[in-house]
Amino acid sequence: MHPRSLTPRFLAASILLLATLAQGCTALRWSAPDEHRQPTPNVILLIADGLGAPGLTMARNYHVGANGRLAIDQLPVHGWCTTHAVREDDPARPDYVTDSAASATAIATGRKTSNRRLATEPQTDAAIPTILEQARDAGLRTGLVSTASLADATPAAFAAHVNYRWCYDPAMMAGCPTFTKMSGGLGSIVEQLVDARPDVLLGGGMVSFRQRIAAGPDAGRRVVEAARAAGYRVVDSADELGGLEPGAPVLGLFADGNLAPAWKPSLASFPPGEAERCEPGNRPPRQPSFTAMLEAALRHLEPARADRAPGFFLMAEAAMIDKQAHVADACGQIGDTVEFDEGVALARAFAERHPGTLLIVVGDHDHTPQIVDPAYAEYSPGITTTLTTFDGSPMTIAYATSFFGLRQQHTASQRPLAALGPAAERLGGLVDHADLYHLMREHLGLARPAAGGDEALQP
Ligand code: MG
Ligand code: ZN
Repeated sequence: MHPRSLTPRFLAASILLLATLAQGCTALRWSAPDEHRQPTPNVILLIADGLGAPGLTMARNYHVGANGRLAIDQLPVHGWCTTHAVREDDPARPDYVTDSAASATAIATGRKTSNRRLATEPQTDAAIPTILEQARDAGLRTGLVSTASLADATPAAFAAHVNYRWCYDPAMMAGCPTFTKMSGGLGSIVEQLVDARPDVLLGGGMVSFRQRIAAGPDAGRRVVEAARAAGYRVVDSADELGGLEPGAPVLGLFADGNLAPAWKPSLASFPPGEAERCEPGNRPPRQPSFTAMLEAALRHLEPARADRAPGFFLMAEAAMIDKQAHVADACGQIGDTVEFDEGVALARAFAERHPGTLLIVVGDHDHTPQIVDPAYAEYSPGITTTLTTFDGSPMTIAYATSFFGLRQQHTASQRPLAALGPAAERLGGLVDHADLYHLMREHLGLARPAAGGDEALQP
Protein backbone atom coordinates (compact mmCIF):
# COMPACT_ATOMS: atom_id res chain seq x y z
CA MET A 1 0.00 0.00 0.00
CA HIS A 2 1.31 3.48 -0.88
CA PRO A 3 2.08 5.55 2.23
CA ARG A 4 0.09 8.46 0.74
CA SER A 5 -3.10 6.45 1.05
CA LEU A 6 -2.76 6.42 4.84
CA THR A 7 -4.68 9.68 5.06
CA PRO A 8 -6.97 10.45 8.01
CA ARG A 9 -9.90 10.01 5.62
CA PHE A 10 -8.69 6.52 4.61
CA LEU A 11 -8.15 5.57 8.26
CA ALA A 12 -11.60 6.79 9.21
CA ALA A 13 -13.15 4.81 6.34
CA SER A 14 -11.17 1.68 7.32
CA ILE A 15 -12.24 1.93 10.95
CA LEU A 16 -15.86 2.34 9.84
CA LEU A 17 -15.53 -0.69 7.55
CA LEU A 18 -13.98 -2.84 10.29
CA ALA A 19 -16.63 -1.72 12.77
CA THR A 20 -19.37 -2.59 10.28
CA LEU A 21 -17.85 -6.02 9.62
CA ALA A 22 -17.52 -6.71 13.35
CA GLN A 23 -21.10 -5.65 13.92
CA GLY A 24 -22.18 -7.85 11.01
CA CYS A 25 -20.41 -10.88 12.49
CA THR A 26 -21.93 -10.23 15.91
CA ALA A 27 -25.36 -9.81 14.38
CA LEU A 28 -24.94 -13.01 12.37
CA ARG A 29 -23.77 -14.97 15.37
CA TRP A 30 -26.66 -13.86 17.55
CA SER A 31 -29.33 -14.04 14.92
CA ALA A 32 -28.51 -17.58 13.82
CA PRO A 33 -30.73 -19.47 16.29
CA ASP A 34 -33.80 -17.36 15.52
CA GLU A 35 -33.54 -16.54 11.86
CA HIS A 36 -31.68 -19.45 10.28
CA ARG A 37 -32.80 -22.48 12.25
CA GLN A 38 -35.90 -24.26 10.97
CA PRO A 39 -38.62 -24.48 13.60
CA THR A 40 -38.99 -27.99 15.02
CA PRO A 41 -41.41 -29.95 12.83
CA ASN A 42 -44.43 -31.34 14.67
CA VAL A 43 -47.61 -32.96 13.35
CA ILE A 44 -50.96 -32.78 15.11
CA LEU A 45 -53.42 -35.00 13.24
CA LEU A 46 -57.00 -34.66 14.48
CA ILE A 47 -59.38 -37.33 13.18
CA ALA A 48 -63.14 -37.03 13.63
CA ASP A 49 -64.36 -40.57 13.09
CA GLY A 50 -67.42 -40.64 10.84
CA LEU A 51 -67.68 -36.86 10.48
CA GLY A 52 -68.74 -35.87 7.00
CA ALA A 53 -70.12 -32.65 5.55
CA PRO A 54 -73.66 -33.40 6.88
CA GLY A 55 -72.36 -34.00 10.43
CA LEU A 56 -70.27 -30.84 10.35
CA THR A 57 -73.24 -28.80 9.09
CA MET A 58 -75.47 -30.28 11.82
CA ALA A 59 -72.98 -29.24 14.52
CA ARG A 60 -72.56 -25.73 13.06
CA ASN A 61 -76.32 -25.14 12.76
CA TYR A 62 -77.02 -26.45 16.23
CA HIS A 63 -74.13 -24.89 18.13
CA VAL A 64 -73.31 -21.54 16.47
CA GLY A 65 -76.07 -21.14 13.87
CA ALA A 66 -76.09 -21.30 10.08
CA ASN A 67 -74.13 -18.03 9.86
CA GLY A 68 -71.76 -18.92 12.69
CA ARG A 69 -68.34 -20.43 12.20
CA LEU A 70 -66.73 -23.29 14.09
CA ALA A 71 -62.97 -23.46 14.77
CA ILE A 72 -62.68 -26.01 11.96
CA ASP A 73 -64.37 -23.56 9.57
CA GLN A 74 -61.82 -20.88 10.48
CA LEU A 75 -58.70 -22.87 9.63
CA PRO A 76 -56.93 -21.23 6.66
CA VAL A 77 -56.81 -24.19 4.24
CA HIS A 78 -59.80 -26.34 3.25
CA GLY A 79 -59.86 -29.25 0.89
CA TRP A 80 -61.50 -32.57 0.17
CA CYS A 81 -60.32 -36.08 0.78
CA THR A 82 -61.22 -39.33 -0.97
CA THR A 83 -61.48 -42.28 1.38
CA HIS A 84 -62.07 -45.61 -0.40
CA ALA A 85 -60.53 -48.91 0.75
CA VAL A 86 -59.43 -51.72 -1.63
CA ARG A 87 -60.87 -55.20 -2.12
CA GLU A 88 -59.30 -58.13 -0.30
CA ASP A 89 -59.95 -60.43 -3.31
CA ASP A 90 -58.54 -57.89 -5.81
CA PRO A 91 -56.52 -55.13 -4.13
CA ALA A 92 -56.13 -53.27 -7.46
CA ARG A 93 -59.84 -52.39 -7.30
CA PRO A 94 -61.55 -50.01 -4.86
CA ASP A 95 -63.99 -50.95 -2.14
CA TYR A 96 -65.88 -47.66 -2.09
CA VAL A 97 -67.18 -47.71 1.48
CA THR A 98 -64.27 -47.81 3.89
CA ASP A 99 -64.31 -48.78 7.54
CA SER A 100 -62.18 -47.01 10.13
CA ALA A 101 -59.48 -49.69 10.01
CA ALA A 102 -58.70 -49.35 6.30
CA SER A 103 -59.05 -45.55 6.34
CA ALA A 104 -56.76 -45.14 9.38
CA THR A 105 -54.28 -47.52 7.68
CA ALA A 106 -54.21 -45.28 4.59
CA ILE A 107 -53.57 -42.17 6.71
CA ALA A 108 -51.00 -43.93 8.93
CA THR A 109 -49.05 -45.73 6.17
CA GLY A 110 -49.83 -44.14 2.79
CA ARG A 111 -51.08 -47.53 1.55
CA LYS A 112 -54.60 -48.69 0.88
CA THR A 113 -55.76 -51.91 2.44
CA SER A 114 -59.03 -53.81 2.75
CA ASN A 115 -61.68 -53.24 5.40
CA ARG A 116 -61.02 -54.62 8.89
CA ARG A 117 -57.21 -54.65 8.40
CA LEU A 118 -54.80 -52.59 10.51
CA ALA A 119 -51.49 -51.59 8.83
CA THR A 120 -51.22 -54.91 6.98
CA GLU A 121 -51.28 -55.67 3.25
CA PRO A 122 -54.31 -57.39 1.72
CA GLN A 123 -53.84 -61.12 1.08
CA THR A 124 -50.25 -61.38 2.41
CA ASP A 125 -50.76 -59.96 5.95
CA ALA A 126 -47.38 -58.19 5.57
CA ALA A 127 -46.95 -55.40 8.14
CA ILE A 128 -46.73 -51.85 6.71
CA PRO A 129 -44.59 -49.34 8.65
CA THR A 130 -46.65 -46.49 10.16
CA ILE A 131 -45.80 -42.84 10.50
CA LEU A 132 -45.81 -43.20 14.29
CA GLU A 133 -43.25 -46.01 14.16
CA GLN A 134 -41.07 -44.10 11.69
CA ALA A 135 -41.25 -40.93 13.79
CA ARG A 136 -40.34 -42.91 16.93
CA ASP A 137 -37.41 -44.61 15.16
CA ALA A 138 -36.14 -41.19 14.04
CA GLY A 139 -36.09 -40.00 17.68
CA LEU A 140 -39.28 -37.94 17.58
CA ARG A 141 -41.83 -38.15 20.37
CA THR A 142 -45.19 -39.76 19.62
CA GLY A 143 -48.71 -39.92 21.01
CA LEU A 144 -52.14 -41.48 20.43
CA VAL A 145 -55.36 -40.16 21.94
CA SER A 146 -58.89 -41.48 21.43
CA THR A 147 -62.31 -41.20 23.04
CA ALA A 148 -62.78 -44.89 22.09
CA SER A 149 -60.86 -47.85 23.46
CA LEU A 150 -57.20 -47.48 22.51
CA ALA A 151 -57.60 -50.89 20.86
CA ASP A 152 -60.22 -49.46 18.48
CA ALA A 153 -59.32 -49.26 14.80
CA THR A 154 -58.28 -45.62 14.43
CA PRO A 155 -55.60 -45.42 17.14
CA ALA A 156 -54.61 -49.06 16.59
CA ALA A 157 -53.73 -48.57 12.90
CA PHE A 158 -50.93 -46.18 13.90
CA ALA A 159 -49.05 -48.65 16.10
CA ALA A 160 -50.36 -52.20 15.56
CA HIS A 161 -50.38 -54.61 12.63
CA VAL A 162 -53.10 -57.24 12.40
CA ASN A 163 -55.39 -58.64 9.72
CA TYR A 164 -58.56 -58.36 11.82
CA ARG A 165 -59.39 -55.18 13.74
CA TRP A 166 -61.32 -56.88 16.55
CA CYS A 167 -58.21 -58.67 17.89
CA TYR A 168 -58.12 -56.17 20.75
CA ASP A 169 -56.40 -58.26 23.44
CA PRO A 170 -55.02 -61.74 24.19
CA ALA A 171 -58.57 -63.01 24.91
CA MET A 172 -59.93 -61.86 21.52
CA MET A 173 -57.58 -63.57 19.08
CA ALA A 174 -60.00 -66.04 17.43
CA GLY A 175 -60.19 -63.95 14.24
CA CYS A 176 -56.40 -63.71 13.77
CA PRO A 177 -54.80 -66.97 15.01
CA THR A 178 -51.51 -66.42 13.16
CA PHE A 179 -50.96 -63.14 15.02
CA THR A 180 -50.98 -64.59 18.56
CA LYS A 181 -47.72 -64.41 20.52
CA MET A 182 -48.15 -68.15 21.10
CA SER A 183 -47.79 -68.73 17.35
CA GLY A 184 -44.84 -66.34 17.10
CA GLY A 185 -46.94 -63.38 15.90
CA LEU A 186 -46.89 -59.74 16.99
CA GLY A 187 -49.70 -60.32 19.48
CA SER A 188 -53.02 -58.57 20.09
CA ILE A 189 -53.55 -54.85 19.47
CA VAL A 190 -53.02 -53.73 23.08
CA GLU A 191 -49.85 -55.85 23.38
CA GLN A 192 -48.55 -54.20 20.21
CA LEU A 193 -49.49 -50.72 21.46
CA VAL A 194 -47.32 -51.25 24.54
CA ASP A 195 -44.50 -52.74 22.45
CA ALA A 196 -44.64 -49.73 20.10
CA ARG A 197 -44.06 -47.53 23.15
CA PRO A 198 -45.58 -44.18 22.18
CA ASP A 199 -44.80 -41.45 24.76
CA VAL A 200 -48.51 -40.77 25.24
CA LEU A 201 -51.43 -43.23 25.10
CA LEU A 202 -54.74 -41.77 26.32
CA GLY A 203 -58.22 -43.22 25.88
CA GLY A 204 -60.45 -46.10 26.95
CA GLY A 205 -59.98 -49.87 26.87
CA MET A 206 -59.06 -50.83 30.44
CA VAL A 207 -60.76 -54.24 29.98
CA SER A 208 -58.37 -55.12 27.17
CA PHE A 209 -55.31 -53.94 29.10
CA ARG A 210 -56.38 -56.17 32.03
CA GLN A 211 -56.07 -59.36 29.94
CA ARG A 212 -53.14 -61.67 30.55
CA ILE A 213 -50.35 -62.08 28.01
CA ALA A 214 -50.18 -65.69 26.80
CA ALA A 215 -46.58 -66.14 25.63
CA GLY A 216 -43.19 -64.43 25.42
CA PRO A 217 -41.14 -62.73 28.14
CA ASP A 218 -44.25 -61.16 29.74
CA ALA A 219 -46.32 -64.40 29.77
CA GLY A 220 -48.81 -64.45 32.65
CA ARG A 221 -48.66 -60.70 33.20
CA ARG A 222 -51.61 -58.44 32.51
CA VAL A 223 -50.95 -56.09 29.58
CA VAL A 224 -51.22 -53.08 31.91
CA GLU A 225 -48.55 -54.62 34.17
CA ALA A 226 -46.29 -55.10 31.17
CA ALA A 227 -46.84 -51.42 30.37
CA ARG A 228 -45.79 -50.43 33.90
CA ALA A 229 -42.73 -52.67 33.64
CA ALA A 230 -41.88 -50.93 30.36
CA GLY A 231 -41.82 -47.58 32.19
CA TYR A 232 -45.38 -46.29 31.69
CA ARG A 233 -47.11 -44.28 34.37
CA VAL A 234 -50.71 -45.51 34.36
CA VAL A 235 -53.56 -43.11 35.23
CA ASP A 236 -57.30 -43.75 35.23
CA SER A 237 -59.06 -40.48 36.04
CA ALA A 238 -59.34 -36.97 34.62
CA ASP A 239 -58.00 -35.50 37.89
CA GLU A 240 -54.89 -37.69 37.82
CA LEU A 241 -54.29 -36.81 34.17
CA GLY A 242 -54.64 -33.08 34.86
CA GLY A 243 -52.09 -33.22 37.69
CA LEU A 244 -49.49 -35.27 35.87
CA GLU A 245 -46.08 -33.68 35.28
CA PRO A 246 -44.47 -34.25 31.88
CA GLY A 247 -41.77 -36.91 31.99
CA ALA A 248 -41.96 -40.68 31.61
CA PRO A 249 -44.43 -42.15 29.08
CA VAL A 250 -48.05 -42.05 30.19
CA LEU A 251 -50.85 -44.57 29.64
CA GLY A 252 -54.28 -43.18 30.50
CA LEU A 253 -57.17 -45.68 30.62
CA PHE A 254 -60.35 -43.82 31.55
CA ALA A 255 -63.05 -46.39 30.74
CA ASP A 256 -63.43 -50.17 30.44
CA GLY A 257 -64.31 -49.76 26.76
CA ASN A 258 -65.13 -46.50 24.96
CA LEU A 259 -65.51 -43.21 26.81
CA ALA A 260 -69.08 -41.89 27.11
CA PRO A 261 -70.28 -39.33 24.54
CA ALA A 262 -70.29 -35.77 25.93
CA TRP A 263 -74.04 -35.15 25.48
CA LYS A 264 -77.06 -37.26 26.45
CA PRO A 265 -78.42 -39.38 23.60
CA SER A 266 -81.41 -38.36 21.50
CA LEU A 267 -83.74 -41.04 20.16
CA ALA A 268 -84.65 -40.90 16.47
CA SER A 269 -88.17 -42.07 15.68
CA PHE A 270 -90.70 -42.94 13.02
CA PRO A 271 -93.08 -41.17 12.73
CA PRO A 272 -91.17 -37.92 13.46
CA GLY A 273 -91.31 -36.56 17.02
CA GLU A 274 -91.46 -33.02 18.41
CA ALA A 275 -88.50 -30.62 18.17
CA GLU A 276 -86.14 -30.89 21.14
CA ARG A 277 -82.86 -29.54 22.53
CA CYS A 278 -79.80 -31.64 23.38
CA GLU A 279 -78.62 -32.00 26.97
CA PRO A 280 -74.92 -31.95 27.85
CA GLY A 281 -73.51 -33.65 30.97
CA ASN A 282 -73.51 -37.28 29.82
CA ARG A 283 -69.88 -38.14 30.61
CA PRO A 284 -68.89 -39.19 34.13
CA PRO A 285 -66.48 -36.67 35.76
CA ARG A 286 -63.85 -39.39 36.03
CA GLN A 287 -63.53 -39.45 32.24
CA PRO A 288 -61.62 -36.52 30.68
CA SER A 289 -63.01 -34.67 27.68
CA PHE A 290 -61.39 -34.96 24.25
CA THR A 291 -59.97 -31.47 24.79
CA ALA A 292 -58.55 -32.37 28.23
CA MET A 293 -56.79 -35.42 26.76
CA LEU A 294 -55.47 -33.38 23.83
CA GLU A 295 -54.22 -30.66 26.19
CA ALA A 296 -52.47 -33.26 28.37
CA ALA A 297 -50.91 -34.93 25.33
CA LEU A 298 -49.54 -31.63 23.99
CA ARG A 299 -48.19 -30.76 27.45
CA HIS A 300 -46.30 -34.08 27.49
CA LEU A 301 -45.02 -33.83 23.93
CA GLU A 302 -44.12 -30.13 24.01
CA PRO A 303 -40.37 -29.86 24.50
CA ALA A 304 -39.11 -28.01 27.58
CA ARG A 305 -36.68 -26.08 25.36
CA ALA A 306 -37.81 -25.17 21.86
CA ASP A 307 -34.22 -25.12 20.50
CA ARG A 308 -33.50 -28.65 21.65
CA ALA A 309 -36.73 -30.17 20.43
CA PRO A 310 -36.88 -33.54 18.68
CA GLY A 311 -40.37 -32.75 17.34
CA PHE A 312 -43.41 -34.99 17.66
CA PHE A 313 -46.24 -36.83 15.92
CA LEU A 314 -49.62 -36.83 17.67
CA MET A 315 -52.88 -38.40 16.45
CA ALA A 316 -56.00 -37.54 18.47
CA GLU A 317 -59.37 -39.02 17.57
CA ALA A 318 -62.93 -38.03 18.45
CA ALA A 319 -64.31 -41.54 18.01
CA MET A 320 -67.85 -41.36 19.30
CA ILE A 321 -69.18 -39.19 16.45
CA ASP A 322 -69.12 -42.38 14.37
CA LYS A 323 -70.41 -44.67 17.08
CA GLN A 324 -73.38 -42.40 17.87
CA ALA A 325 -74.15 -42.07 14.14
CA HIS A 326 -74.39 -45.88 13.99
CA VAL A 327 -77.20 -45.72 16.58
CA ALA A 328 -78.92 -42.65 15.03
CA ASP A 329 -78.09 -40.43 18.04
CA ALA A 330 -77.98 -36.86 16.66
CA CYS A 331 -77.22 -35.21 20.02
CA GLY A 332 -74.38 -37.66 20.71
CA GLN A 333 -72.91 -36.88 17.30
CA ILE A 334 -73.26 -33.12 17.66
CA GLY A 335 -71.93 -33.03 21.25
CA ASP A 336 -68.74 -34.87 20.33
CA THR A 337 -68.33 -32.76 17.18
CA VAL A 338 -68.56 -29.60 19.29
CA GLU A 339 -66.01 -31.06 21.69
CA PHE A 340 -63.75 -32.04 18.76
CA ASP A 341 -64.03 -28.47 17.51
CA GLU A 342 -62.82 -27.17 20.89
CA GLY A 343 -59.84 -29.46 20.41
CA VAL A 344 -59.23 -27.89 16.99
CA ALA A 345 -59.13 -24.43 18.62
CA LEU A 346 -56.69 -25.73 21.26
CA ALA A 347 -54.44 -27.35 18.64
CA ARG A 348 -54.50 -24.20 16.53
CA ALA A 349 -53.36 -22.09 19.50
CA PHE A 350 -50.53 -24.60 20.10
CA ALA A 351 -49.54 -24.55 16.41
CA GLU A 352 -49.45 -20.76 16.43
CA ARG A 353 -47.04 -20.83 19.40
CA HIS A 354 -44.91 -23.52 17.67
CA PRO A 355 -44.55 -22.43 14.04
CA GLY A 356 -43.12 -25.78 12.85
CA THR A 357 -46.43 -27.49 13.63
CA LEU A 358 -48.55 -28.88 10.81
CA LEU A 359 -52.17 -29.27 11.95
CA ILE A 360 -54.44 -31.53 9.87
CA VAL A 361 -58.13 -31.97 10.68
CA VAL A 362 -59.92 -34.74 8.82
CA GLY A 363 -62.61 -37.38 9.07
CA ASP A 364 -62.01 -41.00 8.14
CA HIS A 365 -65.28 -41.62 6.27
CA ASP A 366 -68.74 -40.13 5.90
CA HIS A 367 -71.81 -41.44 7.70
CA THR A 368 -75.59 -41.71 7.62
CA PRO A 369 -77.24 -38.44 8.73
CA GLN A 370 -78.91 -36.07 6.28
CA ILE A 371 -80.52 -32.74 7.10
CA VAL A 372 -83.97 -32.91 5.50
CA ASP A 373 -86.91 -30.51 5.18
CA PRO A 374 -89.04 -30.75 8.35
CA ALA A 375 -92.16 -30.24 6.19
CA TYR A 376 -91.51 -33.61 4.52
CA ALA A 377 -89.98 -35.48 7.47
CA GLU A 378 -92.95 -37.85 7.59
CA TYR A 379 -92.05 -39.07 4.08
CA SER A 380 -88.60 -40.21 5.18
CA PRO A 381 -88.24 -43.98 4.98
CA GLY A 382 -85.86 -43.81 7.92
CA ILE A 383 -86.02 -42.41 11.43
CA THR A 384 -85.68 -38.74 12.26
CA THR A 385 -84.79 -36.37 15.09
CA THR A 386 -85.76 -32.70 14.99
CA LEU A 387 -83.62 -30.29 17.01
CA THR A 388 -84.22 -26.61 17.75
CA THR A 389 -80.92 -24.99 16.82
CA PHE A 390 -78.94 -21.95 17.98
CA ASP A 391 -80.91 -19.97 15.35
CA GLY A 392 -84.20 -21.05 16.95
CA SER A 393 -85.13 -22.98 13.78
CA PRO A 394 -86.07 -26.66 13.52
CA MET A 395 -83.40 -28.93 11.98
CA THR A 396 -84.63 -32.40 11.02
CA ILE A 397 -81.99 -35.11 10.74
CA ALA A 398 -82.87 -38.34 8.94
CA TYR A 399 -81.08 -41.67 9.43
CA ALA A 400 -82.00 -44.04 6.63
CA THR A 401 -79.13 -46.39 5.74
CA SER A 402 -80.64 -49.27 7.75
CA PHE A 403 -84.05 -50.33 8.96
CA PHE A 404 -85.18 -48.91 12.28
CA GLY A 405 -83.33 -50.52 15.15
CA LEU A 406 -80.46 -51.79 13.00
CA ARG A 407 -77.00 -50.31 12.92
CA GLN A 408 -76.78 -47.31 10.55
CA GLN A 409 -74.00 -47.55 7.96
CA HIS A 410 -70.95 -45.67 6.77
CA THR A 411 -71.29 -43.79 3.49
CA ALA A 412 -68.62 -43.00 0.93
CA SER A 413 -68.72 -39.30 0.02
CA GLN A 414 -65.44 -37.41 -0.19
CA ARG A 415 -64.65 -35.85 3.15
CA PRO A 416 -63.93 -32.24 4.12
CA LEU A 417 -60.40 -31.58 5.32
CA ALA A 418 -58.83 -28.51 6.97
CA ALA A 419 -55.24 -27.62 7.78
CA LEU A 420 -52.87 -24.98 9.09
CA GLY A 421 -49.09 -24.59 9.18
CA PRO A 422 -46.13 -25.44 6.95
CA ALA A 423 -47.16 -27.24 3.75
CA ALA A 424 -50.86 -26.97 4.66
CA GLU A 425 -51.57 -25.24 1.33
CA ARG A 426 -50.75 -28.55 -0.40
CA LEU A 427 -53.97 -29.90 1.09
CA GLY A 428 -56.21 -27.42 -0.72
CA GLY A 429 -58.17 -29.19 -3.48
CA LEU A 430 -58.83 -32.91 -3.63
CA VAL A 431 -56.37 -35.36 -2.06
CA ASP A 432 -56.59 -38.92 -0.79
CA HIS A 433 -56.05 -40.24 2.75
CA ALA A 434 -52.80 -41.83 1.54
CA ASP A 435 -51.49 -38.39 0.53
CA LEU A 436 -51.79 -37.21 4.13
CA TYR A 437 -49.21 -39.80 5.18
CA HIS A 438 -46.69 -38.60 2.59
CA LEU A 439 -47.20 -34.94 3.47
CA MET A 440 -46.78 -35.64 7.21
CA ARG A 441 -43.75 -37.84 6.57
CA GLU A 442 -42.06 -35.19 4.45
CA HIS A 443 -42.86 -32.49 6.99
CA LEU A 444 -41.28 -34.53 9.79
CA GLY A 445 -38.23 -35.21 7.63
CA LEU A 446 -38.79 -38.99 7.63
CA ALA A 447 -37.47 -41.15 4.81
CA ARG A 448 -39.84 -43.11 2.58
CA PRO A 449 -39.96 -46.65 3.98
CA ALA A 450 -38.21 -49.33 1.95
CA ALA A 451 -41.39 -51.43 1.88
CA GLY A 452 -43.57 -48.56 0.65
CA GLY A 453 -44.49 -48.71 -3.02
CA ASP A 454 -47.48 -46.41 -3.39
CA GLU A 455 -46.65 -43.12 -5.01
CA ALA A 456 -48.70 -40.35 -3.49
CA LEU A 457 -51.08 -38.50 -5.77
CA GLN A 458 -49.35 -35.16 -5.42
CA PRO A 459 -51.84 -32.49 -4.42
MG1 MG B 1 -62.26 -44.62 15.12
ZN1 ZN C 1 -68.25 -46.71 12.15
